[in-house]
Amino acid sequence: VSQSAPKLPSKILELMDGFRASKALFVASKLKIFDHLKDKGPTKAVDIANYVGASVCGTERLLDACASLGLLEKTPQGYSNTDSANTYLTSDGKYSLHGYIIHSNDHLWPLFTNLEFAVKEGSRQNHRAFGKKADDLFKDYYHRQEVKQRFMAAMHSIARLTARDVATAFDLSQFKSACDLGGCTGALAYELVQVYPNLKVTVFDLPEVIANTSYFQPSGQHTAPVTFVSGDFFKDNLPEADLYILSRVLHDWPDEKIHVLLSKISAVCKPGCAVLLAEMVLDDEKKNRSTALLQSLNMLVQTEGKERSGSEYQALLEQHGFKNVKIRITGNLLDVILCVKT
Ligand code: SAM
Repeated sequence: VSQSAPKLPSKILELMDGFRASKALFVASKLKIFDHLKDKGPTKAVDIANYVGASVCGTERLLDACASLGLLEKTPQGYSNTDSANTYLTSDGKYSLHGYIIHSNDHLWPLFTNLEFAVKEGSRQNHRAFGKKADDLFKDYYHRQEVKQRFMAAMHSIARLTARDVATAFDLSQFKSACDLGGCTGALAYELVQVYPNLKVTVFDLPEVIANTSYFQPSGQHTAPVTFVSGDFFKDNLPEADLYILSRVLHDWPDEKIHVLLSKISAVCKPGCAVLLAEMVLDDEKKNRSTALLQSLNMLVQTEGKERSGSEYQALLEQHGFKNVKIRITGNLLDVILCVKT
């Protein structure tokens, strides 16, 4: 009996190729090819290869792969950036993803190489990927200036891309003061004071981070009502505020640590004051959002945390007296949850 050939499994074939495409993007970014092509007309492969100090045959194949993926345009005159490469892949644009791409290549890639161990052991893989494992994952990031800078640049790039949607998901104009716990470079804080001119924002983060924030301050905003305070949010007193913000903080930690943090916030939060979470919120069945579910694997390989559903965040918050939990799915990389201390 003749059997017709099965339908080509295009989804599977695409996934088998996924890591090759990711790596092509990472290497082109690392070689600063998109920076080189910014504001330039079509450029020949040999000139790009000379500029980046790489082989002509290798560069040409990388450029062709990038063009086929829609990252570059190829014409008989040479290669040029697409509009999207100019906006997101050059390293200096407001919405540049360069920082996160370099972090993905240098940090996440070695961790994901050990995903099998992470799944079998149920724990993070810093020791296998980098030969060491501190008690606290942030100690792994901050022990070397270069690694810290790279991590902060990565956080900064995603925060810039999401800040407007996070700031406007709810009307926050009734709050006079906010404290962004684990606020890192201040990217969200600077967006908040733009959107809400009467709001004063304190960015609270570990001393190593606060010491390194000046590099990321927006030019011309030095007098903005954003202040930086260093401390450990598990141990130290928290600054007073009407609104406490936790953006991509809870996903780093297991429930036990989240309870410590939320009980500290609850203790300083007056009735009527609020907590705003910015996270990728999973659907309750945990089956529909592959970006968020892949991010949860990303948390597995490097943290003790995970991505959670709206109901899971609600249950954590309600245990600490935070009620009226509202969730906004933004369509951007971060969703927003707002709740009020009763
Ligand atoms: N909120 C930023 C954002 O959304 O881009 C940064 C998120 S990053 C995943 C987590 C942040 O929490 C880092 O800036 C880290 O330094 C900070 N953090 C971790 N442990 C902390 C602690 N014990 N006290 C204060 N900040 C801490």
